Amino acid sequence: MIISLLLLFLSILLMFFAKYLFYENPKHLAYFVTAFIAILFLLRLLHSMVRKMQIALGRAEGIIKVLRDSRDRYALAVSGIDDGIWDWDIKSGEIIFSSGWKKMLGYRADEDIDAMRFWNGIVHKDDVKMLNNAIQYHFDGRTKHYIAEYRVKSRNGLYKWLMDRGTVTRDEKGRPLRMVVSSRDITNRKNAEFALKSRTDELRIANKQIKKEIGNTRKFKQAVDSSTDSVMMLDTDGSIEYVNPSLERATGYDFSELRGKIFTTLYQEKTKAELLQKIKEAFLRGRAYRSEDVVVSKKDGGWYTQEFSLYPIRKDGRIIHFVVIGQDITKRKEVDTAKSEFVSLASHQLRTPLSAIRWYSEMLLDGVGGELNKQQKKYLQEVYNANIRMIELVGTLLDVSRLDLGKFPINKKMTNVSYVVETIIKELQPIIEKKNLKVTKKFAEKIEDMCIDPKMLRMVFHNLISNALKYTPENGEISIVLKQESGKLFVEVADTGCGIPKEQQSKIFTKLFRADNAREIDSSGTGLGLYIVRVIVEKMKGSIRFSSEENKGSTFYVIIPMQDKKECVAKN
Ligand code: ADP
Repeated sequence: MIISLLLLFLSILLMFFAKYLFYENPKHLAYFVTAFIAILFLLRLLHSMVRKMQIALGRAEGIIKVLRDSRDRYALAVSGIDDGIWDWDIKSGEIIFSSGWKKMLGYRADEDIDAMRFWNGIVHKDDVKMLNNAIQYHFDGRTKHYIAEYRVKSRNGLYKWLMDRGTVTRDEKGRPLRMVVSSRDITNRKNAEFALKSRTDELRIANKQIKKEIGNTRKFKQAVDSSTDSVMMLDTDGSIEYVNPSLERATGYDFSELRGKIFTTLYQEKTKAELLQKIKEAFLRGRAYRSEDVVVSKKDGGWYTQEFSLYPIRKDGRIIHFVVIGQDITKRKEVDTAKSEFVSLASHQLRTPLSAIRWYSEMLLDGVGGELNKQQKKYLQEVYNANIRMIELVGTLLDVSRLDLGKFPINKKMTNVSYVVETIIKELQPIIEKKNLKVTKKFAEKIEDMCIDPKMLRMVFHNLISNALKYTPENGEISIVLKQESGKLFVEVADTGCGIPKEQQSKIFTKLFRADNAREIDSSGTGLGLYIVRVIVEKMKGSIRFSSEENKGSTFYVIIPMQDKKECVAKN
């Protein structure tokens, strides 16, 4: 308006001056008017351009203001969102975390979490690299979206698992500008996954173990199936769970015929009742038991003698099965019997000529056949001594064979035990004196007479005491304890002798066994004495054991139950 009035005023002023300027040449007036109009037009154009520019500038300012306002509003909106969101301005590096994101991790909504804190404190240090890679891959365009699972530290110091999803926005040149990422708490899922994984791992290991066990079991079964020994597996109630083919062959029974039967069914017909009782007791007490006298009944009515071993199988201290391993030893038993019979016969036959030698050498030594010179006497004494040793050996062999054949004559009598021991010590006195041994008798004040075979009892004491004397060096000590308690006779024979080497102790009661150190001390032993003692003690339903330390000494412990006196009283 002002410009238009200004233009009007300017045109009137120009027209007024034009009247005087172009007074002389009106042609010039026409030029002037044209120029004036052109100027007017130009001025108008200029004015409208300025105006347009003003409007454009105003608009631009408005736009900038609106933009600024909307950015602030956006930041505010993002930070207030209840979902787990973070918005990353890549150029400035600034990250805005939504209140939902903070809440998810236990932070206050107004707590300041900047990019620095996020990358250097909140994200688990082991996941930072993976997270950077995931972002970089997405920025490089290798992935359509940024997706990552990683751990972040919540306010209470515990880590939570988040799953991020986001897409970057780029400038016109494709450079990353900003990325809005939504985060979800997947801790529960992850924990479940881990639990599942560890369970799966456990299962995998268990599976492997089971496969191995199955493999072992298969191998074991193959071994058991192809064993020549008969094998039986028993349940804890004694019923048969499994028998191997060897047992099927030996007895003639099929597994199906034996399954579920009580195992003693196989033995009860022919095995001695007391042995059967011992097996049952061992089974009930969950103890191992071994015997060479179990007789197995076969399906066809026959039988065979078995070397029988019963073992409990435990798991976590509890018996879960029993196994019975058996071997047909009928042949061996027959051979043993034949051997024993031969030894018995030979010894018996040898006794008569040996006794004759003894009597005649005694007579000759007594001068019955005329006076002998010194030399002749010396030689004859040697013959006599050797003959006595031979008589003893033959007597021992006879005893062993009779015991083995079960033909040892048992003659029970009321016997004074301490008297038996005293007489043995007396007999052995020359050795005791020769070696200057100290023998201590610790006999209980009152020892009742026992109904027992005195000859057998003598053999037990003689062997134990003579061994103690034999294997104890000069000036050593021997002590003999006798006492009766709870219907049993307790015997202890202790010495300070050479002892028995540990590695040979298990064989000490077997026939003909002699320890290495004993051979060096005395070359004439037979290794039959302790065998005889064991068999006799077992026949008396007693027990024997020992403790020994090499070069320190040995103690033998014997327990013999007092027999029922009626048997002896009736005889007397
Ligand atoms: P022997 O004494 O004739 O050799 P035994 O059967 O009596 O036979 O004994 C067997 C073995 O036991 C002996 O050879 C010896 O090795 C060992 N033994 C027995 N008693 C004792 C003992 N008191 N001290 C050391 N060793 C012993």
